[in-house]
Amino acid sequence: MRPVAVQHTRPVWAEVSSGALCANYRRLCAAAGPGIKVLAVVKANAYGHGATECAPVLFGAGARWFGVTAVEEGVTVRNALRAAGIADAEARILIMCGVWQHEAAACFDHALTPVVWEPYQLALLEEEAARRGVPPRSFAVHVEVDTGMARQGVAPGPALAVLLAALQASHHLQLEALMTHFASAEVVDDPQNREQQRRFEAALHQAHEADLTPALLHAGNTSGVDSAETAAWLPTLPSTLAALGRTAPQLMTRAGLALYGYALPLHQGAAEPVSHLAAIEPALVWKTRIVSLRDLGRGETVGYNATYVTARPMRVALLPVGYADGFRRALSSTNAVEGSAVLLHGRRAPIVGRVSMDLSVVDVSAIPEAAVGDAVTLLGRDGALAISAAEHARLAGTNVYEVLCGISDRVPRLIV
Ligand SMILES: *Cc1c(COP(=O)(O)O)cnc(C)c1O
Repeated sequence: MRPVAVQHTRPVWAEVSSGALCANYRRLCAAAGPGIKVLAVVKANAYGHGATECAPVLFGAGARWFGVTAVEEGVTVRNALRAAGIADAEARILIMCGVWQHEAAACFDHALTPVVWEPYQLALLEEEAARRGVPPRSFAVHVEVDTGMARQGVAPGPALAVLLAALQASHHLQLEALMTHFASAEVVDDPQNREQQRRFEAALHQAHEADLTPALLHAGNTSGVDSAETAAWLPTLPSTLAALGRTAPQLMTRAGLALYGYALPLHQGAAEPVSHLAAIEPALVWKTRIVSLRDLGRGETVGYNATYVTARPMRVALLPVGYADGFRRALSSTNAVEGSAVLLHGRRAPIVGRVSMDLSVVDVSAIPEAAVGDAVTLLGRDGALAISAAEHARLAGTNVYEVLCGISDRVPRLIV
């Protein structure tokens, strides 16, 4: 049976600019420098931008590594790349949060490369490899070193020794890469960054001493490229290995947020930090349309719990979007507290009252031409004005990551 395509008729959608995605990818590559590849992180549905839509576009811009959270996301991205005619060997997919029971088979079927740090993960993969009779040392894994986040990863020292021994004892697994992740990459010159680098260097030595020298090393994220700290440190690693008489490994960094046109503000003590990604541009514009208009008198209440009472006659527009779409409730206003706004006809229309699950109301008193059917921008640029995910994040007490990946599956993504 052919899958039935969902018809999107509801007037709520997100437009994702392939031009902006590609330009942002190229800016990341330029800022990372010539010796460093950039893995395109498309986890969490490409930070809300649509992984099946974005991954083939980023491949077109030159990305050859893609990062996802879990095997299920990896399968989705692999299927999207295959559907775009991209051979498995041309595009690598890194599963950044490990493998779990019953997921090893999909790693082989869909050519996924897992990050591992627990011996049980190696056992799951080795068992599946043996069942399939794959050639010796043909299945690549990346080992994550915990250099100071205490989340994923294996600490240098005895724990890493155990994992490396298990890798050596396996028949089918091959250590392709060592990698790590930084806790405070947006804080330039943070002593923790240097400490994490030092621990990674120790892990690299330890792997070398166990006669396992990875062909690839990767670390860092958007902020590490933005500050140039990771980009400056990675190229020092091959000389560490060269001193040990090894061939130079490939170097890579992993970036998500900047692909989509955002970066966290950098911090650098009293100094003014220099951003190496200042030119990136948001790729997503989230839109809806006015579905209803009404005129309210003075003293009328709007929305749940009547948190907003009109102080004057007001014309309001109804938008068919709410927090079930990821249009956050924290954008609501009361008479005392200003909320966020939307853009229409090149002006800001303030949100009045509570954003509810499926509906929001905005004040269009100052926009007399507003009519049913008019396009409204919820997030992103509209002419001279823009509403940044940073504005939503500030009101919601969170970061731009959570705002972007919170745009729910109910919102179709259109590549433009
Ligand atoms: C999400 C993630 C990244 C990308 O981080 P950004 O700040 O979005 O660039 C890099 N590495 C790992 C391991 C991640 O989980």
